[in-house]
This record gives sequence, C-alpha cells and structure tokens, in this order.
Amino acid sequence: MARHLVTSAIPYINGIKHLGNLVGSQLPADLFARYQRARGNEVMFICATDEHGTPAELAAQKAGKPVADYCAEMHEVQARIAEGFRLSFDHFGRSSSPQNRHLTQAFAKRLHEMGLIREVSEKQMYSNADGRFLPDRYIEGTCPNCGYDSARGDQCDNCTKQLDPVDLINPRSVISGSTDLEMRETKHLFLCQSKMKDKLEAWIDSKSDWPVLTTSIAKKWLNDGDGLQDRGITRDLNWGVPAQFEGAPWGGMEGKVFYVWFDAPIEYIAGTQEWADANGGDWERWWRTDKGADDVTYTQFMGKDNVPFHTIGFPATILGSDEPWKLVDYIKSFNYLNYDGGQFSTSRGRGVFMDQALEILPSDYWRWWLLSHAPESADAEFTWENFQVSVNKDLADVLGNFVSRITKFTRSKFGEAIPEGGDWGEAGEALIAELTTRIRDYEKFMEAKEVRKAAAELRAIWVAGNEYLQSSAPWTVFKTDPVQAGAIARLALNLVPLYAVLSAPFIPDAAKSMLEGMHATDQGWPDDVAAAVRALPEGHAFTTPEVLFGKISDEQREDWQSRFAGIRT
Ligand SMILES: [Zn+2]
Repeated sequence: MARHLVTSAIPYINGIKHLGNLVGSQLPADLFARYQRARGNEVMFICATDEHGTPAELAAQKAGKPVADYCAEMHEVQARIAEGFRLSFDHFGRSSSPQNRHLTQAFAKRLHEMGLIREVSEKQMYSNADGRFLPDRYIEGTCPNCGYDSARGDQCDNCTKQLDPVDLINPRSVISGSTDLEMRETKHLFLCQSKMKDKLEAWIDSKSDWPVLTTSIAKKWLNDGDGLQDRGITRDLNWGVPAQFEGAPWGGMEGKVFYVWFDAPIEYIAGTQEWADANGGDWERWWRTDKGADDVTYTQFMGKDNVPFHTIGFPATILGSDEPWKLVDYIKSFNYLNYDGGQFSTSRGRGVFMDQALEILPSDYWRWWLLSHAPESADAEFTWENFQVSVNKDLADVLGNFVSRITKFTRSKFGEAIPEGGDWGEAGEALIAELTTRIRDYEKFMEAKEVRKAAAELRAIWVAGNEYLQSSAPWTVFKTDPVQAGAIARLALNLVPLYAVLSAPFIPDAAKSMLEGMHATDQGWPDDVAAAVRALPEGHAFTTPEVLFGKISDEQREDWQSRFAGIRT
C-alpha cells in the first residue's frame, strides 16, 4: 500500500470562492485523493483556510466584526460549501490555529539559527491618528496615473498601475480616513533566499517530471532580473502569528506578525497536526522523514499564481531549516478558468460562486464539467452553452442513458433481477478486452494527474457500454433468443457497479446512487475486469434507478446566463 500526502492551496478567508478557484486547486486535489483511496492506498488530504493578513482585517472591519470572529464564521461557511462539493479532506484546518502559530515561530527561530534571517530597517507609512503603521492596502489616495480617487497603496484598481504608497496624491488611512500620515522607520525580518538560490535551483532541476508551467515559473523567480531576492517575512499588523514570542532570538518585534506567505504553507503541516490532535493520529509519519515519512509521495495542487510560493518560498523554509521535513514530490499547477468572455472576479462579483453553483445544480454536474475542462495546458473558459452541451451529452446522454436503458429493458423483459443463463459470446469478450485497455489508460492518466485526459478516457469507457448495447441490441435478440438477450443484459448490468467505482473520483454522488440502485457494494478497483463484470451474480435483485442526470434546458441556460452576468450583490 502506497502512502499519498495531498494538499490543496489554501483558500483565503475573505469570502466565498468562485468556480475558477475551485478547479485550480481543491477539486483536482480531491479527484487525486479519491482516486488513490479507491486504489487502496493510504491518503492524507489536507486543506485549510488562509486567515491572516491585511485583507482579512479589512473584510472583518467592513463586516463590523472582530477579525477572529469573522474568520471563525467564514471558515464554517467555506467548510460547509466544501462539503457540498464533496471535497473529501481528511482535515480542513485553519492557518490561525495554535498549531500553526507554534510551528511558524519554531521555523523562524530555526532559520535564524541557520543564519538565514536578517533584520532590516525600512521606512513605512505611519498613521498618527491610528497609532500604527499602515500596510499598502490600508492607504488610499488619488492615482497619479489616471486620477482615480480611490487608488490603493499597492495598485490602482481603475488603471491597474502598480503603485507605491508614496506615489499617491493626498494619501489617507483606510481605517480612519486620517491624512495625518508620515514615513517612519520600522524593523522587519528578512528570509535570506539569495543564500538558498543554488540549493533551490538544484532541487528544482532534479524534478524532471514536473509540468513545464510549474518549473518555468520557478526558474523565472530564480533567475530573472537580479536573481532571487531576500524576502521580508514580517508585517506591521496585529492579526497573524506574532513575530515576537517567548524564546525568539530577536527583540523589538512587538506589534509585528509573520507575513501571511510565510505562515500559510506551514499550515499544511500544522493542519495535519490539527487532524492528529482531533483524531488521535500520528502526523509525523506524514511529514518527518526521520519518523516514517520516507515512503510518502507528496503532491501539491494549486493555481499558477501560487507557484512561486510553493517552488521557492516554502521550500526555502523547509530546506533552510536543514531538518528532516518531507519536501513536495510533485507540484501540479493550473492556468486560469475564465468566465463567459472575461475573467471571474471576486472583487466585482463576476461569474458563478461556489454557493450559487450548488443552489442551481447538484455538485456532480459542476465537478464533471470543471474537471473535464480543467485549465491544464492553457487558460480555459466557462460558457453556459458549453456547460449545457457537456452535461447533456456526457452525463445525461452517455452515462445516464446507459444506466436507464439497460435497467428498464431488463425490468420489462426479465423483472428486476440479473438474468440467468446463456453466454454473452464474442461481442461481450471484445467489450471486456476494450474496457481492460481503457481502464489501464485511465489509471495511467490519473497517476500522472492528467485531469482532462482521465476525464476523456472515463467518458470513452461509458461510451463503450452504450455502443455494446447498441450493437448487441438485446431488445431485438430477445424476440428470437431470450436467453442470449439475458446474457447480454447481465454483462451490461454488471457495468453499472463497475462504472460507479471508476467514476466515483469525478462524480461521487452519482456513483453512490448507481451502486445503491444495483444493491451493490464497492467491490474495489477493477484490476481484473473479466472478474468485475461477473460480480453481480445471476438472480441478484436490483432497483431501476431514478434519472441519474437531468438535462439542462435552453430556458434554464438562458435564465442562468442572465442571472450571473451582472454583479453579485
Ligand atoms: Zn489609476
């Protein structure tokens, strides 16, 4: 039994994520975790909410709530939606957990011991009225480029120009509106990534099997411009992991916290500790190579915007510690999913958000479309037309129709039991041979995390069943040879539980209904297809299932199209 550690990039806490976020990390990670479990392997699948930093503080302020309360509430909301999408996390943690605070501080201290932390004095905007330093996003003013009057300290949302707070005309504090601001000296901790460059590059070069998307982004960060830069890992904020703590090897860091990009990936480890603390498990055998994690295969899933932090930032922490932590083995990254001729936008509420998606259709419809159109080699686009076609053809016409056709035919001619006697003959054996080849290919694509190819192969496996029914035509054979027709039906009916097991990583709810309809249990992965298609014995009773997948009508499509075209309110 192999052991797989799987992590999804952790979604930020401030609000509900859209379908583009879902398909870029959590959903393909779930597919892989479910597949590995189905193969009988041991899986630890960790995700969490990323709760620290300025945007959480601002969102809480806007909601009129203390930031800790806001995060606790939003974590519950995100956990509920994840459940709605059947994301099978072993643990959905929180980066604000005590475990993460402790571990983040321990890593920082260790990196200091290794000579990889230096203290740097910088000038930063200070608000006298608020009595605090203001991060870039806490400062607004008039854009020097376009004149927009609510440009942020880091960027103008109107003309997208990157800004420095000192560029703004009439800068003011977002917290109080005060214009009594001044530049003041402040001290920060920097991680000496430049000292780690050779080590990081050698490690990345050793990963010849990684997707080009992953390695090209990593290489760019290592070598572009002046090369890899040291990175500030603290911020002047209250909400986060305190940078001044008992036993800290530095002083004068009161009122500062670790930067969210330092503590967020550490939550993968801390989330596993949270799981262990809640369930009495052993987290070290997943993360410490000196405590049994040597045989673990660790795969990370993320959107391309997160690649620098996972190929450079987090590995710099792990490698820099020189302690026996488990490093990632494979980074699967995704391009962006666009929405109907533009981009999904959280700030402008454009596109379909996870909660809205579940209000209009069951999760399997979304899972199937998103995974079968995953933005792997290039950006992909969600359009309602494409969604309608894909759901109606793949799910309703191919899989749904197959199940409905064979169960209804059998019920009408033989009753609701697996027909007895006869031999399904050469055509049946040819089908078994084709399925065997296709299932081995499906496994290959799943192992390689080739999501689209796996979906296409699964669809071909469903199509093979339909074609078998079509060419064997048991309804015609029945007129002259009912026993032979029964044998054909027996083989086809046995494909239903087989398809359920193969399809469960993509569409877990439908897979469950298929097994229930056949009064079957999960017989495990079909290593031997010839045996799997004989699992339901002659005479075994079944229940003709309800329609597995409804079709999306043109009226529904048009309704949703107009409903989601505007701004989310
Ligand atoms: Zn501007």
